[in-house]
Amino acid sequence: MKWTKSFTYTLKESPADAEITSHKLMVRAGMIRKLAPGLYTYGTMALRSIKKFEQIVREELEKIDCAEILMPIVHPKELWEETGRWQEMGQGLARFKNRNSHEFCLAATHEEAVTDYVRRDIKSYRDLPISLFQVQTKFRDEIRPRFGLMRGREFIMKDAYTFDLDEAAAIKSYDQLFHAYKNIFQRVGVDFRIVDADSGNIGGNKSQEFHVLADSGEDHLMVSTEGDYAANIEVCPAIDVVPFTSQASELPMEKFETKGLKKISTLSKALKIAEKDLVKSLYFSTVELEEGSESLSLKELKPICVLLRGSDELNPIKLKNSLGLINPPMMLTDTEVNELTGAYPGSCGPVNLEIPIYLDKGLEGYKNFIVGANENNFHLKNVNFPRDFKVTDTVDLRMAREGDLSPMGKGTLKSYRGIEVGHIFYLGTKYSKAMKANYLDAQGKSLPVEMGCYGIGISRTVQAAIEQSNDKDGIIWPKSIAPYMLHICHLDPNDEAVNTVATDLYGSLMSAGVEVFMDDREERPGVKFKDADLLGFPYRLVIGKKGVDKGEVELVHRSTKEKQVIQLASATAQLIELLSTS
Ligand code: ATP
Ligand code: MG
Repeated sequence: MKWTKSFTYTLKESPADAEITSHKLMVRAGMIRKLAPGLYTYGTMALRSIKKFEQIVREELEKIDCAEILMPIVHPKELWEETGRWQEMGQGLARFKNRNSHEFCLAATHEEAVTDYVRRDIKSYRDLPISLFQVQTKFRDEIRPRFGLMRGREFIMKDAYTFDLDEAAAIKSYDQLFHAYKNIFQRVGVDFRIVDADSGNIGGNKSQEFHVLADSGEDHLMVSTEGDYAANIEVCPAIDVVPFTSQASELPMEKFETKGLKKISTLSKALKIAEKDLVKSLYFSTVELEEGSESLSLKELKPICVLLRGSDELNPIKLKNSLGLINPPMMLTDTEVNELTGAYPGSCGPVNLEIPIYLDKGLEGYKNFIVGANENNFHLKNVNFPRDFKVTDTVDLRMAREGDLSPMGKGTLKSYRGIEVGHIFYLGTKYSKAMKANYLDAQGKSLPVEMGCYGIGISRTVQAAIEQSNDKDGIIWPKSIAPYMLHICHLDPNDEAVNTVATDLYGSLMSAGVEVFMDDREERPGVKFKDADLLGFPYRLVIGKKGVDKGEVELVHRSTKEKQVIQLASATAQLIELLSTS
């Protein structure tokens, strides 16, 4: 490809809405252009990289007998109603009506569509296992699309689905996909981690995520200093190295004034008691509200109270899972808290409340709590349970912290940031039962198929690789997914001799199958070199008058900036050897 034909326009400045390096670089390199928030046009460079990554994914999946299909992006409402997800998915699912007033959605994921596809043809156990994948556009109406391709509304996903006889066979399929994913990310050459994960509203109970490590990653990973335990913080058990134990006897409850001390931090300073030795009370509704539904009374909201150490942060996913909800529960508003407890947040506690109260495990052995008095500007001290309030359940609800004990017993937890590029789930029979995807076993008994689903963010991974591999001058593409391997800086397009050398070399490399891009613009050398660094293909070849007169060209390695002079006479052969073996 020649630059002048590639419709590529680079920018000196980063766009104002780009917060992270890879987003800035992709826009500056003219690879992506925003159409509207979360919607991007992929320029030819980005698309080449996406296609190369897709090809790696395709090859690894075909190795494990996973067959490629392509399902529609528009799905009828009735399909999603079969599993209840038309309601469950909430506003993330973009819905519309056609001219006949039939309701449809844009596929956010394809479990329903693929289950419908297979259920027609699975007759007996002889038809299983089945393993299918597609590379398809997904649409999710993300609340805050950001970071370019990282969190788009429209994005490209590879999604795979497996169908098996029983749980053991389904786990075997899961393991196969797990290994294929490992090979895929190893082949791309990114530094990644595999962590235990939450299943979200997909269902099932075994799930792992693949993360590209990067400081700008939105996900928080906890990794053990010993052994191979690693989990997304959302599901990481929180285990104190030194648990609270108290030999203290229960003292009589006392009320005291705490005017202006609403926050744990100010209360801690004023009382000279560490934040971890105070107790905070949070209030949630356990009812899943649908958009546009009428506001509910406090009783209808089915409120609960959660108690945690003052220094700890609640983990909403753990709370959701321990309550058996689909989505994390909503916090009550200040007004609702006031109606429930008689005081505004900052002065509330668990005493005299007739609602379920959940205690974080971190408070298990603790005595003589200091909590809000449910009277504005007052707290209570020496509050104890079950004497002063009833606990419905004691559960692990806090965010794990760096330094906590590793759940495997060896080592402590260290925290990292990651970009979720892949996610695999064992689903069980959630979809097959709901959608009657059954098979007949050897005895003729009808059973639901066991399923798994497996996603890779294709567009996100390409940007994640850039996030991990760049320098102050631009992108440093991993060779595996570089849009082109060689960037020719043709410095003198108007000089006949140089032009002949450049176009001949370009032509022979192309015919030999080398992925070559040639900057044939009428620009100064400085501009061309800067743009070559910004675009970041693995090698740059400089062809200019000075060198050509001496019978030489210069090869520059993008990652090391190492330069190498090559004799023109042997350049084609040398470059073909270098670029088709690397
Ligand atoms: P996230 O937690 O980042 O919102 P998710 O867990 O909802 O993602 P999955 O349903 O697991 O996403 O989708 C499979 C893969 O698709 C993810 O691992 C991710 O790589 C990619 N993906 C998900 N949402 C987006 C998005 N908005 N933009 C780009 N890629 C996405
Ligand atoms: Mg996920």
